[in-house]
Formats: sequence, C-alpha cells, structure tokens
Amino acid sequence: MPVGVFWKSIAAAFALALLLMRPAAAQSATAGEAVATCVAPVRTDDTAWMMLRTRTRFDCTTPQLRFGAGDFWVRATALPAGVETGARVLRSWSLWQQGATIYFRYADGVVVRRVIDDEGAARSIALGAVFEQPVPVRGAALTQILWHVRGAANVRGIVSNARLATPAESVRRNLVFAALYGGFGGLCLALLVYNLSLWSALRHRFQLAYCGMVAALATYAFSSSGAMAWLWPEPGNLARLRVNYVALAAAALMALRFARHFFEPRVFGRRTTWATNAVGAYLVLTAAAFVLLAPWQARLLDLLYSLGFALLTILAGVILLRARRERSNYLWVFGVAWAAPFLLAAIRTMSSLHLIASSTWLDNSTLAAMTVEALVSSVAISYRIRLLSVERDAARAEELAARMLADTDPLTELLNRRSFLREALAKGARAPQLLVLADVDHFKQVNDTLGHDLGDEVLRRIARALRVAAPHGALVARIGGEEFAILVPADTRGLPDMILDAVRAARMPYDLTITVSVGSHAGALESEGDWAAMYRMADQALYAAKTAGRDRARVASLSLAA
Ligand code: GH3
Ligand code: MG
Ligand code: MG
Repeated sequence: MPVGVFWKSIAAAFALALLLMRPAAAQSATAGEAVATCVAPVRTDDTAWMMLRTRTRFDCTTPQLRFGAGDFWVRATALPAGVETGARVLRSWSLWQQGATIYFRYADGVVVRRVIDDEGAARSIALGAVFEQPVPVRGAALTQILWHVRGAANVRGIVSNARLATPAESVRRNLVFAALYGGFGGLCLALLVYNLSLWSALRHRFQLAYCGMVAALATYAFSSSGAMAWLWPEPGNLARLRVNYVALAAAALMALRFARHFFEPRVFGRRTTWATNAVGAYLVLTAAAFVLLAPWQARLLDLLYSLGFALLTILAGVILLRARRERSNYLWVFGVAWAAPFLLAAIRTMSSLHLIASSTWLDNSTLAAMTVEALVSSVAISYRIRLLSVERDAARAEELAARMLADTDPLTELLNRRSFLREALAKGARAPQLLVLADVDHFKQVNDTLGHDLGDEVLRRIARALRVAAPHGALVARIGGEEFAILVPADTRGLPDMILDAVRAARMPYDLTITVSVGSHAGALESEGDWAAMYRMADQALYAAKTAGRDRARVASLSLAA
C-alpha cells in the first residue's frame, strides 16, 4: 500500500474519533433524563435531615473536580418533570468512593434511605460501568434526592452524570452494552485462540506480545464494562477499578512489545529501544502505585498514570517516524492498525488530564478502536508472516540452487563424484547395492577427429541415454572424464546389458557409433571402506571388459577380487 493511504487512514481515524465525541452522541449514550446536582463538603455536625432542608450550603456552579477528595453531600437541584409517576432507576457513573447513602424524599415527607458500601456499589453496577439504584416506589411522588458520598477520590467527579431512567430504558441500555461487550469478548477469544495456535507453529515473538495485548484488552473490557462486578461482586467496586488500571497498563505494555518485535530490528535504534523500555517501566510503576496507594493521593496518582499514556502516544509517533525513515515494510499496515487506538488514547489522555470533557462514548469508544485494532493487527500479522515466508522461500530456493550446483556435473547435469558417493553410502546403509561403471570406448579418437566440443556433445547424449536406461530411483553420475557410474539395489537384473544397448542406440553427431565398456560389482556398501572395495572390483571388471575387446560387460569375479 502506498504511503499516501497510510496518512489518509490516520486522518479518517481522527475524523471518526472526533465524530464519536460530538455532544449529541454523548447524549444518546446515556439512558433517561439528566438530574442536575449541587455539592456541599461534609462538616462534622451535619445530619441528613438538616441537609435535606437547606439549600444555602450547596454550591451549584463550581465544577465537582475543584472540590478535591473527601466526603460530600450532593443534592438534586430539581427532578425532571414526570418522574413522580412510575418506577425509575437512578443512574450515575461509577467513580472511586468508599460508599454512599442515598436519601429519597417523597411528597408526604417520608425519607427512604439506601446505604451502599463498596460491595454494594459493585452489586449496583450496570453494564457500561454505571451505578444503578432502583428508586423505591411509594404512593407519594418523589420530590428530592440527596447523596452522602464517603471517601470520594474525586478523580473524575463526586456524583457524575446522574440520571433517572425507566426500568425499560435501563434494560435496553444493558442489552446494548451486553451485545457490544459480548461481541468484543468473542472477538478477543477468537483472536487469542487463533494467534496462540499460530504462535505455537511459527514462534514469532510479536505473536505472543499480540496475544498478551488481546488478553489484557479482554480483561480491561471485562472489568471496565462492569461485567466483572456482575460475576464477582464480593471484592467490591474499588477492586474492579484497580483491575481497570492494571489491565489498561498491561495492554499498553504489550502493545509496545508488539511494536518492538513487529518492526524490523533496524527501526528500534538504541535510543528508541531505551525510550520504549522507559515508557513501559513508567506505565508499570504508575499503575502499581495507583493500585497499591489509592485512595491516598488518588488524583495525583491518576494524573501520573494518565501521563504515561500521553508519553505512549508521543512514543508511538516517534516509532512511526523512525519506521518511515528506515523504510520499514510494515509501516503502513502498523499505522492503519494503530491509528484509531492511538488517537483515541490521545483523546482519552486529554480527557483524563481534564483538557476536554469526558463522555460515556469516549469511555466506550476504546472498545470500537480496539476492535478495529485487534482485527487489523491480525491482518497485519498475516501480512508480516507472508513477507517472512516470501523471504524464507527465496532463501530456500537459493540454497537449493547452490546445493544443486555443488552436487551436479555442469556438462551432463548428472550427479558428480562427491554427491554420488554421499548418496550411494546413504542407499548402501539400507541394503546391498550394485555398482555399474561405464567407460566410453576410444573416446580419445572422438575428440581427435570431431573436436572437443562435439566430444562434449557425445558425453551429454551418453548421459541422457544412461538416465533413460537406468531404473527409477537409480543414482546416475559422471565420476570421471568419460566414465559414468550407476548405482541400483543389488538384486537388479540385466542393467549392464541395458546400458550397452542404450548407448549403442543413442543418436550421435554425424551418426557416429559410440560404445561403452561396462564393469559391475554387487555387495555391501555400508562404509567408505566398502565403497573403495566395491569400486576397485567394478573397475577391474571394466578393465576386463576393455581387454576382452570393448563394447561388452563384465562382472567382478572372486578371482579378480583376489
Ligand atoms: P579406452 O577405450 O581405453 O577407454 O580409450 P579412451 O580413448 O576412451 O581412453 P583415454 O583414457 O585414453 O582417453 C579419455 C579421453 O577423454 C581423454 C580426454 O581428453 C577425454 N576427455 C576427458 N574428459 C573430457 C571432457 O570433459 N570432454 C571431452 N570432450 N573430452 C574429455
Ligand atoms: Mg575410455
Ligand atoms: Mg577412461
């Protein structure tokens, strides 16, 4: 793919990310009607009864984040019209807090209290990581909601995005998220199984990093969606939030390892490798710090953690530029796979650093980006493997050609003496063999009368005749100037005569009649010593054939061996 497409894909991913952040999209991502809230930090003598009746203590303009960590009262300024009739659920984003008590006040003056601890918070999680409490249904209309939030870390707010939804809206929302996360989970599982089996066959390190990344993403989806709280509420909601931090950092770390092994080694110079390791270490350290120390300094720790992702995005840019400079074969495919996730990480980081407003869509767009990434990366991996196998096949073909060249006689393309000996010993190790030597009769005269070039042509034609006459699986070699050797299993019958006939019948330049003399010997061929003995015997038989008048065959006899 040309480089232009690469940049276009990045631009498209960026446009997509911006589209996802439109406020209208953020609106549609949440169910029910918004409930505006005001905040008051808790003072020692405060009682819920007192706070239900006062308005003066509450600050309705300062953004929640400005209040810092601590205990807070949060009250709904005015409930949306129509909520007094019918059942409702109270929804708000799941945030870091030790616990909360929610007071529902009704028109008849009755106040119903719901106390929620950490485990209770986990049990109240709806998919999409939303706290969800059914509003107690009474004869009288609901007139007021007051939260008493204990130990709010206030990393992203105290009571954020509060909404009253109908149970049907809540169910619909849960179903949509169940479908999205279920799809993503299935995708992760399939990619994991597929790439692990690929890895077990091919053992490329980037495949393992990729599997690690998919596993971390699946874990992140499992915890951040709230599914983990459904299946396993006992450790509480804060444990779930901790898993979010670890899983996302692990995914980023694995993504870095993936990049490191996916590109050609030349892309990662000494400084880039150092920076990659440093960013990886930073991610691990800040995730560990948050998990171990929060809620202590949770906001600062979260900020440090988010900075790691900002560093990661910068590093990704550096790696892509280096890959471009080094003319990496994998730049475009890597760029296409990672453009959306990296841009989203950048946007999310801006939101974590409170440079832009966060939204449910932004939180869940990670899912879409990761889906794109996981799928395209899988394609990238197959592209990478394709290039690797093209390289490997070329290297193999070259090696094979070199081997052929070293093993064959260039004039006749038969085996040469060295490869014949090697193959003969391999065959001899399995069974006794018959060695047939054929030497051209009066070949010197051919050269003398027709010239050396036609002599060569005669040798080529004899070679062809021998190859055709030899049975399937026989070794045929040119082992000397005009001397040929054929090796077949010891029980082969009639081969010497077939050779004589084949050479006699072969068409030669100027219709010359060319003949050979043949000597043969059968026996064990298990060692070089056996070969030397067998060759000596066959050669003596050949000599016997020559002295007996040429154009005939002789078998080594025991008297010759003696
Ligand atoms: P004999 O029947 O006793 O085997 O007689 P001969 O002439 O075949 O035997 P001699 O060993 O006297 O001669 C072999 C000749 O083969 C000598 C050499 O020039 C020729 N020869 C060896 N290798 C090549 C080659 O590659 N090409 C050509 N054209 N001739 C070769
Ligand atoms: Mg000869
Ligand atoms: Mg000779």
